[in-house]
Amino acid sequence: MNKTIYMDNAATTATRPEVLEAMLPYFGQTFGNPSSIHGVGREARKAVEAARKQVADSIGAEAREVFFTAGGSESDNWAIRCACAAMAKKGKHIITSAIEHHAVLHTCQAMEKEGYRVTYLPVDEDGLVSVKDVEAAIADDTVLITIMTANNEIGTIQPIAEIGEVAKARGVLFHTDAVQAIGAIPVNVNDLKVDMLSMSGHKFHGPKGVGVLYIRKGVRISNLIHGGAQERGFRAGTENLPAIVGIGKAIELAVAELPEYAQRMTALRDRLIDGLTAAIPDIRLNGHRTKRLPANVNISIRYLEGESILMRLDLAGIEASSGSACTSGSLDPSHVLLAIGLPHEIAHGSLRLSLGMDNTPEEVETVISELPKIVKNLRAMSPLTPEHLR
Ligand SMILES: *Cc1c(COP(=O)(O)O)cnc(C)c1O
Repeated sequence: MNKTIYMDNAATTATRPEVLEAMLPYFGQTFGNPSSIHGVGREARKAVEAARKQVADSIGAEAREVFFTAGGSESDNWAIRCACAAMAKKGKHIITSAIEHHAVLHTCQAMEKEGYRVTYLPVDEDGLVSVKDVEAAIADDTVLITIMTANNEIGTIQPIAEIGEVAKARGVLFHTDAVQAIGAIPVNVNDLKVDMLSMSGHKFHGPKGVGVLYIRKGVRISNLIHGGAQERGFRAGTENLPAIVGIGKAIELAVAELPEYAQRMTALRDRLIDGLTAAIPDIRLNGHRTKRLPANVNISIRYLEGESILMRLDLAGIEASSGSACTSGSLDPSHVLLAIGLPHEIAHGSLRLSLGMDNTPEEVETVISELPKIVKNLRAMSPLTPEHLR
């Protein structure tokens, strides 16, 4: 069988060989517990602290502001739950957007059950949050603003630095889910003026099950897991040593290669958008045309179901997604596509092609020639298709 064309890098990426190689010794001879006093323990501790520095240097932070977690979802949960808990005296109001990842949205919904008031800001038709709306939503009891850096479905990049400016001026904590942004666009915690930032190793060619929460020094947050003194007592549990080494290596490589990568992905992305738009009638691009992740393409193909397109693509050896990986398998249309104003029937026919470092121009051309054939074929069978498109 031929190698498949993998265009689902927003769901997860392949761990790159240099990262795997860096991790391997820590499954083997350097297996020590970083809390141990003896030699192999000290080796392990050194590796954890080296990875912490790699992460810190990559985002303009200090090593002591970097906390390892078990992934993006955990970082989001920690930031929201525990920053609010530490601020309980000030109030119980959270500001977020309607298009956040479920790791943020569902945590906010859980907070509502605990008596918090949550403002879910709307977005415009490109998926942009308005800075004015953020400012207008701030009240005396607002304790946290959490707005994602870039959207995982439609790729829209938010005005994080401007929101950060507002948050700072009003003395409100600001968290951003930067899971999709790391390795794709420049991310510097000081330029973005964020107090907390989440990332996830497997979204930038690192291992799964490891993430980071950046917490600016001076920010008060309660601890996530009680137990030992790991992560300065905030997140107990023996460190996932190989994965921590892996995320450190992966972010170092991603940031070093960022300019070249972004340029290459942008060219592939734009060719894909232009090629598909020219070859398929009645499709629309979702998300902002330019304030957009370099590797994200999201289109709605009218009169069709995203799932049936995905299955045909899979048969043709092309792996994509119809929304976020967590929502596929459910019949509800994506909350992100509904929030940008798409009617249900158009939201249902959407397709996300998320590129990655291994994709080639030839693969993009294959998709540009295969997808229109699949669409034509499916439209011929769909009762919704108007006569002139059959
Ligand atoms: C993937 C993703 C997450 C969750 O990260 P995990 O490491 O899989 O828990 C959170 N937010 C965004 C925007 C994501 O794309």
